[in-house]
Amino acid sequence: MAKLTEEQRRQRAAKRALRSALDAEADDQRRRERDERWKRENTRLSWAEYAAGESCRGCGEPIHDGLGDWYPLMKLSESERREYEEADRRFRERHAECRSGRWSISGSRVTHCCFCCPPPPVGPKQMENLARLFASWPSQEERKKDLDTWNLTLRCDHVVPHIQHREHSYVSARVVDCPQCGERRGVVSSERVGPAYRDDGTIRERAEADQERLAQELAAAKAKLARQQKNAAATQRRITEIQEELSSES
Ligand SMILES: [Zn+2]
Ligand SMILES: [Zn+2]
Ligand SMILES: [Zn+2]
Repeated sequence: MAKLTEEQRRQRAAKRALRSALDAEADDQRRRERDERWKRENTRLSWAEYAAGESCRGCGEPIHDGLGDWYPLMKLSESERREYEEADRRFRERHAECRSGRWSISGSRVTHCCFCCPPPPVGPKQMENLARLFASWPSQEERKKDLDTWNLTLRCDHVVPHIQHREHSYVSARVVDCPQCGERRGVVSSERVGPAYRDDGTIRERAEADQERLAQELAAAKAKLARQQKNAAATQRRITEIQEELSSES
């Protein structure tokens, strides 16, 4: 097989990135339509309904069957294992098209689909814990210094800024709102620009951040050129040496 040129490789990678962005967009659309349907049909259980033992409105199965956990699988008896496998097979059959994970609550053997079944509602206890967690979070002002801006190139070729915590080494969002198109668009590529806020807490303009990034790129390119020039000079010296050797021998 002929080796791909650098250009061909680049084109293939670009095509793959575009296809994956389009897939992400289709999946995002599918989930948003589902969320709309859940809202219309009141699919999510309230805490009171959940606590009263109502069945899942996504699949119709009970949420808590009181049979206890399946796990650990190693400890299941022969008949339990068969039961488990049968339940697993039925689940796969019913949710073959869902392309999603599954969930179940502890103490129960029914599995629910992460696409079809709304997750269990948040209870008052969990609410309290969440409220405590939020209260202990640093203020928005304190967090600003840890935020970076990234530039996301979308499949419509528009570039939009995205702000997230510095500890993330990549952008996990696969679909974002494109203000220019007024549509959700798949992300084709992303590039970290730098701190999102200035020291005084005001947001850095895109041009300012872009300029800094360009300055860094320019410095790196200059350093590379200097290295290449040094190598070229060394090669030139070697050529001269060989030529001198040749002429002294003849
Ligand atoms: Zn369900
Ligand atoms: Zn499903
Ligand atoms: Zn766009």
